[in-house]
Amino acid sequence: MADQLFDNLLADAKEFFREKFGAAPTVLVAAPGRVNLIGEHTDYNGGYVFPMAIERYTIIAATPTDSDKATIWTKDCGKKMVPSAAGEFALRADVKPEEQPDWTSYVQGTISCCLRKGATLKSGFDAVIVSNVPLGGGLSSSASLEVSVATLIEELSGHKFEGSEKPLLCVDAEHEYARMPCGIMDQFISALGQKDCAMLLDCLTEKPEMVPMSDPTVSVLITNSNVKHALTGSEYPERRASCKAVAEALGRKLLREVSMDELLASKDKILAMENGETLFKRARHAVGEDVRTLKMKDALVAGDWATVGEQMRASHDSLRDDYEVSCSEIDALVEIARSIGPDGGAIGSRITGGGFGGCVVTLVKTDKADEIAEKMAREYKARVGKDATFFVTRPAQGARVL
Ligand code: ADP
Ligand code: MG
Repeated sequence: MADQLFDNLLADAKEFFREKFGAAPTVLVAAPGRVNLIGEHTDYNGGYVFPMAIERYTIIAATPTDSDKATIWTKDCGKKMVPSAAGEFALRADVKPEEQPDWTSYVQGTISCCLRKGATLKSGFDAVIVSNVPLGGGLSSSASLEVSVATLIEELSGHKFEGSEKPLLCVDAEHEYARMPCGIMDQFISALGQKDCAMLLDCLTEKPEMVPMSDPTVSVLITNSNVKHALTGSEYPERRASCKAVAEALGRKLLREVSMDELLASKDKILAMENGETLFKRARHAVGEDVRTLKMKDALVAGDWATVGEQMRASHDSLRDDYEVSCSEIDALVEIARSIGPDGGAIGSRITGGGFGGCVVTLVKTDKADEIAEKMAREYKARVGKDATFFVTRPAQGARVL
């Protein structure tokens, strides 16, 4: 299934290249999207996240030219009504970011950031981009685009980025050129993910640890609620500010440095602050989520599925009740998965991503995955009146040259 999907995408890339440039490409690279298994809203607190790469990729097909710029087509630029789009990209490190970013910003930003970090290109290139990571679906099509561009520049320039260099320069591109103040998770897992492994990423030290998830009888079911609630825009900065305020009240910079015991011992002090009740709940989520993430990692390695399921359950409840970033549609999906339960092959289920819609991640017994997905979609339709979309994946390989 996964191989077939990849082969189809690869064939698509080659065909699209031939259509646009009239020849076969000489370089092909791929970088995946991702899903976060646990560790939500922990990154900006310096905590832990636990993503894995998914069997959905962005592929770039390219050929060097003797031009001094890059001409790149994408099959999908994320705009409805625009079937495909082209851009011209300068091979310079000092290109000025656009005020109003669009898809070209991710590409130009990554090219410029690669050049800043020491890659040099002798000539330009022609390229096409195809992807089966849903754009804007919370599975990080943006990181898969940046990381695939960086991988292409490595291959064309012969300059290999070491360790965390590549994901970090992609983060720079997203911050500076796409103007998205994202964390480091998406780019790390897309660049450095390994097949049959999840990644425990410490957002304070920026050190990734590969965690084997090699049991093929367990898979990951990603269900998209296909709702995204309009936010005022203040929800995210508000929560960030709350976490910072509690950390500072306890004499620290980040909640990562606060233990649960310490937080509970300081409860009265926090409750006495303005909006104390809310501050305490927000901090309880952030501090508790780190504990759950580390527990889940150990349980996953041990194949202790009951403990894995428990951590996912507690994470969801905390995001719903303490952090207040869930919504009724997402809760419905999680409740349906819970009603199926471990006996029905649903090991654990939770919201994944920033919240207020988006996707649910459910760990499932591989042989029950389709049945569970269909039941979730059917009951979701009956309860919420909307169509959920889903797919099943094992932990996939990160960026690579094909
Ligand atoms: P997510 O990363 O969750 O999919 P984002 O809003 O962060 O959502 O990124 C989506 C944006 O990234 C798209 O609107 C588009 O600008 C850009 N993008 C992602 N994939 C592609 C692609 N294959 N071709 C062109 N642009 C892309
Ligand atoms: Mg993104």
